[in-house]
Amino acid sequence: MAVSVGLIEQLLEVPAPKAWAESWDNPGLLVGDGAAPVSKILIALDGVPAVADEAAALGAELIVAHHPLIFQPLRNLRSDNAAALVPLRLARQGIAYLAVHTNLDQSPLSSSLALGRTLSLRETDFLETTGAETVFKLVVYVPPAQAEAVRQALAGAGAGAGLTGGPHSEAYAECFFQAEGEGSFRPLPGATPFAGRVGELARVAETRLESSVTEKNLSPALRALRRVHPYEEPAFDIIPLRQEGKKRGYGLIGRLPAAVPLEDVRAGFMAGLAENSSLWAHPYDLSVIRWFGEAKKPVRRIAVSNGSGNSLAGRALARGADLFVTGELDYHHRLDCLARGMAVAEMGHFLSEVPMLPALADYLRGQKELAGVEIAISRHEG
Ligand SMILES: [Zn+2]
Repeated sequence: MAVSVGLIEQLLEVPAPKAWAESWDNPGLLVGDGAAPVSKILIALDGVPAVADEAAALGAELIVAHHPLIFQPLRNLRSDNAAALVPLRLARQGIAYLAVHTNLDQSPLSSSLALGRTLSLRETDFLETTGAETVFKLVVYVPPAQAEAVRQALAGAGAGAGLTGGPHSEAYAECFFQAEGEGSFRPLPGATPFAGRVGELARVAETRLESSVTEKNLSPALRALRRVHPYEEPAFDIIPLRQEGKKRGYGLIGRLPAAVPLEDVRAGFMAGLAENSSLWAHPYDLSVIRWFGEAKKPVRRIAVSNGSGNSLAGRALARGADLFVTGELDYHHRLDCLARGMAVAEMGHFLSEVPMLPALADYLRGQKELAGVEIAISRHEG
């Protein structure tokens, strides 16, 4: 089956659902045709003319980018409108443009998480938690002879995994509870019962099988249940739980094993960035990273935010960060952070977000549906 632009959009919904994006954001397919076939993808941070040149030279039918190409409402598509220039050109050349923006920032592919790993942060938490997965209890009643087949089918669809979002919950799978009991029902005319007779009250042995199911696994679990449950009308309950599943959010905060002078954190982080080729598809100039704060200042708690850190600087301060690693802060936000005793490392917007490109590429290369699709990372430095 040919790979389409729409399939790539669907695959990106798994780590970074569009529904997570901020209301002011504009992610998704911004230029092109969802049904158009794709054999080459260019992954980039921005829809600038140099990236459009690169995509055309490569013969890519799709650009997957972090920043939306169309952000402010476009009032016209005239060639003398700077904001319309690249969209017009891509449309003429048949190149689609798909953006994953604030939804990607909250996903496991976010560069805040990659930078936190490079800093070796422990006991990490999101700097701003934006939501958590809803978890359901799925209770199924099944004849004892079929209980194991139903349990296996449900487990195969992900039921019983990722129970409560607790620190170790991902280390367990196939968590089920079962108890034996008696069910009753009266098949009415028109029914074709698996057990019992039409018009008579049937009392049958049943196994009650319980498991927790996350929101994204609920539909696959119900499909699996309907496939293997012997009843013409499977008996089950879906109960929403107060426990939450996996959290999502912006940025990261964590601690070092012990307090370390800022100059040593800097040396360690810079060496980690230089060595960590999984962050960078191409070599970049790391000397643009600017450090502010006393060299001997002890640092234990570190906050990280890719891109602009203005909106999360207050949270970093409130949560006791000694150092805030971000893309950029405006002048007054930076002065405020320093005045309140928090050192700042500004990586530049580009460097702080470019680790998302290899993360996106690796994710797409790992999808079996995309075998044979060429996935390239832009060489353009914003
Ligand atoms: Zn950005």
